Amino acid sequence: MTQNTENVLDHFNLFRGQEYTEMFENKKKNFEYPHPVEKVDEIRDWTKGWEYREKNFAREALTVNPAKACQPLGAVFVAVGFEGTLPFVHGSQGCVAYYRSHFSRHFKEPSSCVSSSMTEDAAVFGGLNNMIDGLANAYNLYKPKMIAVSTTCMAEVIGDDLNGFIQTAKEKGSVPAEFDVPYAHTPAFVGSHITGYDNALKGILEHFWNKKERSADGKINFIGGFDGYTVGNLREVKRLLDLMGVEHTILADNSDVWDTPTDGEFRMYDGGTKLEDAKAALNAKATISMQEFCTEKSLGYCREKGQETVAFNHPVGVVATDKFLMEISRLTGKTIPAEIEKERGRLVDAIADSTAHIHGKKFALYGDPDLCLGLTAFLLELGAEPVHILATNGSKDWEAKVQALLDSSPFGKGCHVYAGKDLWHMRSLLFTEPVDFLIGNTYGKYLERDTGTPLIRIGFPVFDRHHHHRYPVWGYQGTMNVLVWILDKIFDEMDKNTIVPSKTDYSYDIIR
Ligand code: SF4
Repeated sequence: MTQNTENVLDHFNLFRGQEYTEMFENKKKNFEYPHPVEKVDEIRDWTKGWEYREKNFAREALTVNPAKACQPLGAVFVAVGFEGTLPFVHGSQGCVAYYRSHFSRHFKEPSSCVSSSMTEDAAVFGGLNNMIDGLANAYNLYKPKMIAVSTTCMAEVIGDDLNGFIQTAKEKGSVPAEFDVPYAHTPAFVGSHITGYDNALKGILEHFWNKKERSADGKINFIGGFDGYTVGNLREVKRLLDLMGVEHTILADNSDVWDTPTDGEFRMYDGGTKLEDAKAALNAKATISMQEFCTEKSLGYCREKGQETVAFNHPVGVVATDKFLMEISRLTGKTIPAEIEKERGRLVDAIADSTAHIHGKKFALYGDPDLCLGLTAFLLELGAEPVHILATNGSKDWEAKVQALLDSSPFGKGCHVYAGKDLWHMRSLLFTEPVDFLIGNTYGKYLERDTGTPLIRIGFPVFDRHHHHRYPVWGYQGTMNVLVWILDKIFDEMDKNTIVPSKTDYSYDIIR
């Protein structure tokens, strides 16, 4: 036996033991009947070339490893950002298990969310009874202040009417008539998690603002969008706004619930936008979104209500942060304090210190549309070349915006943008037009192993590196974090490439 009670092995070593390696071999031989190794190698090599790339880019009816998730994931992300709010997904349990595990693995926190547990009978007869029972159970068991409802594919295919179902559930006493139950239809077979974010946020704003008169005040609403760095970013934004003396309301503030302390108390709900503040946010002078393509409908609704709106594209870098702060200053009449100016100077200093290592390096990147725009702008600012930029959930408008950004810089020449493509397309790009580094989420790990392109993990989800979500990527200090993550990988690779004694070990960067 490879292990026994006296010698329990970690899985890293356990599966290398003789009985396991033999078992894997036998499984392959007796059950998988694989093609000969030479044939597999031949086909694999063929898929690395231009001929295969053209076939790959011509495919229409198949998506392989898309860099996006489904709408309800974004709806849950929004819901947990409100005080005492329980996300309630009308649909099947398995979907909700996936959202919970995705968030828990990324943020390393429990993520509370319930489903109406629709099964075969509900799929045939509709999910009204599931909604009636589900709302009653959720209300009585988990004592929320608000329940925010969204839907999975299943409920949308049947065509369940959320508004009618919630009204009926209230009439039947599942929750009190005046209890807040905002909702959004989030069909998972169109759009992505960013569409779900937008629909859910608009649903909550409509719930609080519809049929209300606006009486304008001087406050600013701030929306972060679907963001893997929400814990660090929202705290950083609050710090910057407080330093400037800007009165603000963060809409969907999930920075506390995904960073609860270990002190013996389980917090199903923590922090979040106060429901009273969400209601009063109707009166704000303006609403700012850090992610344009994630908040199109929500911002449209804010404009309908008479607010000015300003949208950014996940701003990272000196220029992008300048623009963000100057817009805040314009909207509020507040000056940018010397303390923040000093942070800017420190970032410029750090970039100048390291520019020789980044300038001219080629990058491929993928992720959500706004994140890709923000990172592209920062790479161009550093004199790096973002050669391949891909967003599975990117639109034609997004593509045009990235192209305009590339056209505005000499470093954007020869770079290309790909909307609606997936990570199997990215594989072809990396083999046919290799780059120095790949930027993306944990799913880029396969591409790193397959193509040998070192992966810098930035995006959502990141499972296999811990705690980066606690660091901001916005503001001058946040940009410093992104700069360091990029540089760390560059130096790791440099060390790996200069490791043979007396032959290539000419790059120590160590002195005694
Ligand atoms: S795509 Fe549909 S079935 Fe899959 S997790 Fe999303 S809602 Fe559920």
